[in-house]
Amino acid sequence: MITAYQYRLRPNKQQIIEMDRWLSMLCAQYNYLLADRFDWYERNRSPVNACPLVCHLPDLRDNPDYYSQKKTLPNLKKTHPWYAEIYSQVLQDVVKRVKVTMNRFLKGDSNGKRSGRPRFKQRNRYRTFLYPQVKNDCLKGNLISLPMLGKIKIILHRPIPDGFKTKTVSITKKADGYYATLSLQDETVPTIKPDFNSESITGEDLNVKGLAKTNKAKSIHDAGWSSFLSILQTKAENAGLLTIGVSAYNTSQNCSACGVKVPKELSERWHNCPCGCSLDRDHNAAINIMNRAAGQPVLKAKSLRER
Ligand SMILES: [Zn+2]
Repeated sequence: MITAYQYRLRPNKQQIIEMDRWLSMLCAQYNYLLADRFDWYERNRSPVNACPLVCHLPDLRDNPDYYSQKKTLPNLKKTHPWYAEIYSQVLQDVVKRVKVTMNRFLKGDSNGKRSGRPRFKQRNRYRTFLYPQVKNDCLKGNLISLPMLGKIKIILHRPIPDGFKTKTVSITKKADGYYATLSLQDETVPTIKPDFNSESITGEDLNVKGLAKTNKAKSIHDAGWSSFLSILQTKAENAGLLTIGVSAYNTSQNCSACGVKVPKELSERWHNCPCGCSLDRDHNAAINIMNRAAGQPVLKAKSLRER
């Protein structure tokens, strides 16, 4: 799953000058690469029913594509040395943007819907550049380190959720300043689809340290349980669900029907209570956990509001 967090940047004067300069150069390169693509079509394509019998044939050249355009970059840096002052992956990403926009025009998106002829961009409408790969530790304290721009002050108004890695950083110039959008990814848990009839997910607030001392230690550490819970919570919130942590105390021992404690070993997988309640041990515990969450003030407040 990928999610994106946007933060405001507080670059210094030198960094602002540099980012502005990059945007100008990247915009010029974008327009140049796009023109190169159009140029090929204008020279090498002709409607079948309107081809003149005698026509001038231009020098044939291969249709420029992502790879051939990418190969032009080293030469660009020789003829226009100031382009070497842009981080190479940021410059390469411009080639990719041209590819994406041309593909959408010629082939359409995944649904086959084609967009209009790509437009050349004016300098003031070219506002974003992308670092397609960043180190996971690029964010330290209130600073983000970006290759060739250095450390830029960032306003972390909310923390990066545990268990997520920073994959890409895009920098956008807006009317009120510069922003960084971090795309965050986790690879461990599938996306939650809220296709069940519930508004909340309840999880046991397990004492990881306590469990880690038992013979279950290895599997608990392997699972990275607290990291899992953090990812689950982030995912659930993105899906519009409420997450509630509840105390795990005696959830498997107590009867979910009458509340009496029915002691059992971990190996006993069935809950049998004198009150007649008989069900799978985990099912019983899950009902207890749900009931505990229902007693939480936040849920009460919510259900009161709905009344
Ligand atoms: Zn009972």
